[in-house]
Amino acid sequence: MLDRAIVRVLPVVPRSVVRRISDSYIAGTTLPDAVRVVRALNKQGKMATIDVLGEEVSNRREALEIVQAYHDVFEAIERERLDSNVSVKLTALGLNLAYELCRVNLLRVVRHAAESGNFVRIDMEDSSTTTETLQLYRELREDGLDNVGVVLQAYLRRTIRDIRDLAPLRPNVRLCKGIYVEPPLIAYQDYEEVRENFVRCLRELLQLGSYVGIATHDQFLIDEGTRLVAERGLTREQYEFQMLLGVRELAADRLVRDGHRLRIYVPFGEHWYQYALRRLQENPKMAGYVASDTLNRLFGADGR
Ligand SMILES: Cc1cc2nc3c(=O)[nH]c(=O)nc-3n(C[C@H](O)[C@H](O)[C@H](O)COP(=O)(O)OP(=O)(O)OC[C@H]3O[C@@H](n4cnc5c(N)ncnc54)[C@H](O)[C@@H]3O)c2cc1C
Repeated sequence: MLDRAIVRVLPVVPRSVVRRISDSYIAGTTLPDAVRVVRALNKQGKMATIDVLGEEVSNRREALEIVQAYHDVFEAIERERLDSNVSVKLTALGLNLAYELCRVNLLRVVRHAAESGNFVRIDMEDSSTTTETLQLYRELREDGLDNVGVVLQAYLRRTIRDIRDLAPLRPNVRLCKGIYVEPPLIAYQDYEEVRENFVRCLRELLQLGSYVGIATHDQFLIDEGTRLVAERGLTREQYEFQMLLGVRELAADRLVRDGHRLRIYVPFGEHWYQYALRRLQENPKMAGYVASDTLNRLFGADGR
């Protein structure tokens, strides 16, 4: 209830306040902001994935601007010798305008990444986009592009089947719980059930020999992930953990100290305000996390 109350008042909270709260989760508005943040993460032994904020484009020109922004990101990564790949949202590349438009834009981004030996992770959005997102991923892989990976969400009941369908491709997968609010018919609602399915999906992916980005801040799942990769005798190059910028930083440092590879999700862009608001409105639970995390920062409690 508190989470929902926070979400209801958000639109009337001054932008400057939202900015201060979201500052720890967003690198800034410009590419140099992202470069600065990634350089600092790299110094701490953490890898990054850069996300250009710009969801739900409404025309072809906006989608092309996002493609161009990713070109600039690849150039910056190469020039600055950053240890970072990129994450893209297909609705930002025009998925809701036309499948073919999105495919062409995605191909441009993935081909440009390949030129500099880089990698593109396709983020997963709400369930209305799952089938098309996986189809696009499959088409690119079948075209011989290997520097691309996808995201699967453990809260979706279909995910275990999706893993089996994708098995022949030995997909490179970021596995996360899923952030959107989805109905019980298609998504597990119970916290424990989502955890259980996360572990089931992780096992299945490791069994296939897939490279997995274990994306979670949930200590139970971090421990399970650590246990499963050790059980299979994987070397540190054969998997990675992933976290969001500014979240559970002490746990992040611990993973790096323990010798695991960790990648941090670094969003930046002009659309930071819409991004922050939309993320919080999509899932009121996030508003609760952010509120308690902000209080911890202000009052110094060690909740991270
Ligand atoms: C690198 C990365 C990429 C992601 N990509 C996608 C994607 O493409 N599609 C998608 O649907 N979801 C994505 N997610 C979000 C993911 O699905 C979850 O919603 C999110 O990670 C919270 O789940 P959790 O596993 O951390 O567990 P939870 O149980 O939700 O969180 C565990 C603890 O972590 C802290 N925490 C978690 N999230 C936050 C936050 N935002 N702010 C402050 N504290 C927080 C809280 O202390 C919480 O108690 C991504 C997550 C990560 C880490």
